[in-house]
Formats: sequence, C-alpha cells, structure tokens
Amino acid sequence: MRHIAIIGSGPAGYYTAEAALKQWGEDVKVDIFDRLPVPFGLIRTGVAPDHQSIKGVSRRYEQTALSDNVRFVGNVTIGQDVSIEELGGFYDAVVLATGAPRDRPLDLPGDRLGNVFGSAAFVGWYNGHPEFTSLAPDLSGETAVVIGMGNVALDVARILSKTRDEFAGSDIVAHALDALDVSKLRRIVILGRRGPHQIMMTPKELGELGHLSRGTPVVDPQDLPDGAEDALLEPGIRKSVSHLRAFAGNDAKGADIAIEFDFFAAPRALLGNGKVEAIEVERTRIEDGRAVGTGAFYELPASLVVSCIGYRTVPVPGVPFDERAGRFANDEGRILPGLYCVGWARRGPSGTIGTNRPDGFAIIEQIAADIGEGAGKAGRAGFDALAETRKLDVVTFRDWKRIEEAESARARSGAPREKFVDVADMIRARG
Ligand code: NAP
Repeated sequence: MRHIAIIGSGPAGYYTAEAALKQWGEDVKVDIFDRLPVPFGLIRTGVAPDHQSIKGVSRRYEQTALSDNVRFVGNVTIGQDVSIEELGGFYDAVVLATGAPRDRPLDLPGDRLGNVFGSAAFVGWYNGHPEFTSLAPDLSGETAVVIGMGNVALDVARILSKTRDEFAGSDIVAHALDALDVSKLRRIVILGRRGPHQIMMTPKELGELGHLSRGTPVVDPQDLPDGAEDALLEPGIRKSVSHLRAFAGNDAKGADIAIEFDFFAAPRALLGNGKVEAIEVERTRIEDGRAVGTGAFYELPASLVVSCIGYRTVPVPGVPFDERAGRFANDEGRILPGLYCVGWARRGPSGTIGTNRPDGFAIIEQIAADIGEGAGKAGRAGFDALAETRKLDVVTFRDWKRIEEAESARARSGAPREKFVDVADMIRARG
C-alpha cells in the first residue's frame, strides 16, 4: 500500500489524486488536505462567477473525491496545524498542490495607497474567499484601471462592468453583487505595457467583452499594427487580435461604461493622498519583444486600481523556495526526497485548468518511480492520531456536501449557490 498526501484541493490536487488512482487502483490511499473547509481551490474562488461551465469541472473531481481510497481533509493548514516533516513521517509522498494564491507585487511608488488591489485579493472578494471578504473596494469613483493584459485582467474588467441582470445564473457573492449594483464606474482602462500582438488574452474570453450590456470595449486604431502582420501570429493570438480590430470600430462616446485598451503603457507610480487618484504612465515601444520606456509620461485618473500581473506561491516552512520565480524550487516536480509539487506551485501561474491534468499524471509517474511499493508507513491512521492529539477540527467530504447543500438552499433565484464567505459559517453549516 502507498500513502500519498496532497496539499491543496484545487485542480492540480484532484488531477494528481485521479492519476494516483489510475496508477495504483486499490493499492493507494490518498488524503487531500485544504486549509479551507471547502474543496476545489481555484475552481471555487478563482474562476469567474459568470463562468459556470468552467466550474462544472468540479463534478469530475467529485468522482475522484468519492472513491473509497481518496479522502478530503479540510480545515487543516499544513505548515501551521501540522508540519511538512510530520506528514513526511506518515505518507510515502507529500505533494504540494497549493497553487499561487498571492499577488505578484507591483513594486511601484504608491502601490500601498487605498483602493489599490492585486487580482488575488480582488477576485477573492467577488468570489467569496474568506480571506478577502472584507476587502470593501470603493466603486464610487469614475475610473478603474486594470493593469495587465491577461485573462485575469479580462475577468476583472468584465465583472466590473456587468449589470445585476448579467449576473443571472452566476454564483457571484451577495456582498460583491450589491457593491457592483451601486458602482459609479464609467470608464475601465486596461493597461498593457506591450502592444496588441503581445496580449495574453485568449480569443473566447476577449470576445465576451463585445457582448456586454453596458460595457463597450474600445481600441485606438492607431495602436494596431498593419493588418498584414497578423499573418505571422499563432492562430490563437491572431483570433484575439481580430477581436481587438473589431473593438477599434467601437465608439466610446455614449457608452455607459467604456472599456478602453491602453497599449504601450507602463505604470510607473500610483499617485494620491491616502487613496489612489491617478497613475503615472510611461509610453513604451517594443524592442526585441520587450517594453522599453520612451521617456514620454502622462497621468491617468484612477479611483480604483486592480493589478492583474500574475501570482506567487506561498512558501511553506522548511520547503526550498525559488524567490525569483515565486514557486517551490523543484526539478520536474521533485523538491526533496518524498516531497513533490505540482500545478502552479511547480511551474508558476500559467496555462488553463486542463494543463494541470498532464501535470498530475507526470508527478505520479515520478512518485511511482521513487516509492516503489511504499515503505509501510502509517498513512492516514498516523495523521488521524495526530489530529486527535492536536484537537484539529477536520472537515470531511461528507461535511462539505452538507455545506454545499446549505449553500444551494440559500441561493438567490436562478443562482447555483450563495457561498458562505466566512469559515465559521461554513463550519456551522456542516451541522
Ligand atoms: P498572464 O496571462 O501571465 O498575464 C499577465 C499580464 O500582466 C501580462 O499582460 C503581463 O505583461 C502583465 N504584467 C506582468 N508584470 C507586469 C508589470 N510589472 N507591469 C505591467 N504589466 C505587467 O496572467 P493572468 O492574467 O494572471 O492569468 C494567469 C493564468 O490563468 C493564465 O494562464 C491565464 O490564461 C489563466 N486564466 C484563464 C482564464 C480562462 O481561461 N477563462 C481566466 C483567468 C485566468 P507582459 O506580457 O508584458 O509581461
């Protein structure tokens, strides 16, 4: 029998568990730990609330979760309630699937001003992550600036511009829906330090911006390269650029909310008195694919700033960490003997949810090569005894199903659930 501990119950964690079952069938026991009492990580608190079809992948994880050999161990923080070394004593392999839940810092003068948020915090706020429930962004100003040109920037811009009706069928949490309802934003600027050919936005997600009831995406035609140059692009990015070309035909005048793409624009400082009021931006040009400052500066008004420039993994005491890359130091997922990482914790915050599936299968192949038939460790019985001594209040998958039921029961009409946004409420709901 092999005993595997997976830390993190998001896509990387569940795909790894699925791979372990495929690899060893009945001859493996997998415990999936999460610091929250609720599973599925990024699917629950990262994927946009109006992208329910993407969230549907959790049904696949549930099949894995309901296997006799896989267990959800919620409400336990590894590195705090239990150390990595302790887990290593019980399990043949410990796999960190903790994702990248912290914002890459902007590192600009003024980045600590009020109403400046990173996307982990901001997305966590509208998705009901208990850590960010009390963020309370002020939406009473006119202009929001979203920094970065990836899919997260698109999510944030889209959510900021949607009406209550457009959230029908979504699971956006009530506190965010109410705040957005009285938002006074009229202008959302998406700031990119490079040009239209260098965006990280994927076509489907970018196309959505063209179908909003009060948000109108606009691109300055002068920012677009000669049409013939699009032929050299990969098909995906070419499709994205074709959306930008279509947006160049839009007129922001008269739009309820203008969603403006500002290309070749690198933020240099955030300005304001206590609270952000403007961003100092430097015009750039592209040299060898990199953004280089031109020395031309301008000020962009900004009552709210959300930087969507990527994420970092949270270090765990005793685990080697690559500070520059913001993830665990690893060689193809191996960190130390018996200790592995997978998903964003291994490779950084890139790729889609599906990218984690081959990642999970690859790490299980490595583990299989390393642990053979297992070393006869105590596995979950060892952990359970420790949990008992420490009086840990473990939340099981069955408990989660009760929490889930309570969330569906209190959903507003047409919505799949109204999430509990407070850990104590989640625990209470398990009965
Ligand atoms: P991303 O795709 O890496 O985009 C980050 C953006 O931030 C880039 O445009 C980057 O510009 C910019 N940036 C980085 N540092 C900057 C700085 N210091 N100043 C100004 N701009 C800066 O990251 P993401 O949007 O966070 O997405 C993470 C991953 O999740 C991606 O793989 C994404 O596709 C995925 N995702 C998918 C969906 C979906 O499929 N619906 C939704 C959300 C997220 P440069 O290119 O110039 O560095």
